[in-house]
Amino acid sequence: MSRSALEFFPRTSLLNGPSPLERWDRLTDDLGGDVEIWAKREDLNSGIAYGGNKTRKLEYLAADALAQGCDTLVSIGGVQSNHTRQVSAVAAKLGLKAVVVQEHWVDYDEAKYEETGNILLSRIVGADVRLDPAGFDIGFRDSWKRAIEDVKATGGKPYAIPAGASDHPLGGHGFAGWAFEVEDQENERGIRFDNVIVCSVTGSTQAGMIAGFAHSDRAQDVIGIDASATVDKTWEQIARIARRTAESIELGRDIRDEEVVLLDRWHDDIYGIAGPRTIEAIRHLARVEGVITDPVYEGKSIAALIDLVREGYFSAGSKVLYAHLGGQPALNAYTEAFA
Ligand SMILES: *Cc1c(COP(=O)(O)O)cnc(C)c1O
Repeated sequence: MSRSALEFFPRTSLLNGPSPLERWDRLTDDLGGDVEIWAKREDLNSGIAYGGNKTRKLEYLAADALAQGCDTLVSIGGVQSNHTRQVSAVAAKLGLKAVVVQEHWVDYDEAKYEETGNILLSRIVGADVRLDPAGFDIGFRDSWKRAIEDVKATGGKPYAIPAGASDHPLGGHGFAGWAFEVEDQENERGIRFDNVIVCSVTGSTQAGMIAGFAHSDRAQDVIGIDASATVDKTWEQIARIARRTAESIELGRDIRDEEVVLLDRWHDDIYGIAGPRTIEAIRHLARVEGVITDPVYEGKSIAALIDLVREGYFSAGSKVLYAHLGGQPALNAYTEAFA
């Protein structure tokens, strides 16, 4: 069975065991009480520089980097990328170097945007942080290829990690494991979730979940909330990574198009900037549950969760699992959004 196929892949331990699963009682009541809302806290998954979803993916990529004898992790993201912060911190934890290219993905010019939040943390953990003027794109970039060549030119051995650790043969494995971890937690507690809500941008978080849950024919219950505002591209990338991951962990069948569910109503028409509804949703969750979300990713998927429950999208009595993927360190670069 494929669950054991995943176990054949080397994994470097970066997490504090299974991430916490909790029922959000007050949000459940606040939204009428008919739909039970639970959260799985990837924002609390690791002690390495605040962790988050990329740290779970990197358990597989880091193991591969070490096996290949690489000495430098090279990756790319926006200026306030959670991903490059996690790559930088994981490199530190493993005694490797990190080169991270930070592109101008977001047109947001709050004072200190290039100095506080995630980029500050990447610098503190010792990464070689390189700012680049290129705009938003989840694909392969020249600046990243140049950084890889630079490492080689100085005698280093780079390990290339694409944006979000997504478009990589091992990008989906971490969250395929997450799906199995959810099923173990369901069995321990005697519950079963009807749906999972997850924010998607570079795609391998949702893709991994799809490949994992497809084993018990639950992939279609995973509802992706697009935060890229390049929805077709993100859908294609999720589908491609889900298929590649499913094959790699020996699902034994293809992933069907209907199993890739990506809703497009909550991206606020732009990556990296929150509209009023997103800001309102961030405040709402914070005031009802004391849980913090960010304006780039999780605020948008929380807005979606709240709207979908209010609209009656989930039938009464259903249990919905919100995947909280982290991202709070970016908040310090977005103070004006809350002015
Ligand atoms: C990267 C990220 C996402 C999106 O995950 P993908 O795998 O890129 O689709 C969502 N939330 C947070 C906090 C992230 O850092």
